[in-house]
Amino acid sequence: MEEHPILAGLTHADLGRLRALSTLFLHEKTFEGADGLELTAAMREVIAVQACLPILNLGMESFENWKTVVVVPDVFIQEHTGYDTAGVVHEWDDDSAGESWDTGPVVLSWKDVEASGWGDGYNVIIHEAAHRLDMLDGEVNGRPALHNGMDPAHWGAVFSAAFSDLKKKSSRNKHRVKIDPYAVEDDAEFFAVATEYFFERPTLLRGEYPDVYALLAAYYGQDPALRVRPSPG
Ligand SMILES: [Zn+2]
Repeated sequence: MEEHPILAGLTHADLGRLRALSTLFLHEKTFEGADGLELTAAMREVIAVQACLPILNLGMESFENWKTVVVVPDVFIQEHTGYDTAGVVHEWDDDSAGESWDTGPVVLSWKDVEASGWGDGYNVIIHEAAHRLDMLDGEVNGRPALHNGMDPAHWGAVFSAAFSDLKKKSSRNKHRVKIDPYAVEDDAEFFAVATEYFFERPTLLRGEYPDVYALLAAYYGQDPALRVRPSPG
């Protein structure tokens, strides 16, 4: 599983814990191939490992609202409503409460899964995992359940400042921003996209939005920028 660059800098101990979490994920969650896709054990593992990277220090209970992973060959084949440009489905019922915030399956396109994990900022699995974490407190608002000592008002201020900045820059020139402008769709998307960059291109996110990076590091209990090998020269 270490072939993915985003896992390359993990310590031996972290990799061991990641493997254990992935094994538990594979055991607890239901995987379904759809539209003729036959899911192999190797494909499940690629998904499980990357899904578990964000919860390395949060624990499997953070995914208690995530029961099923449906994998389709390609995003364009399915007729589900609610796909976003990341190739993921966003379907939740705002009126649901209690038990029913088990928000249905995460649908991933295998083509997008294959494009994830290479350190370029794009990761459909981590994007969806971030949405699940965001939903866990019953509200999809770009702010997951924060740890003791983390100030929700500070979180809101930091994220909305970054959101406004990216929105301003991308409205000026969408092709020159360093973060995928899909992030400014809404607060939930900003959190999901920021999480993708946090794990895929941590030094880029830290350079663009250091305060966002610091809050994500506090929330996820990880500092992925430290795992990135400095480029030679
Ligand atoms: Zn999304």
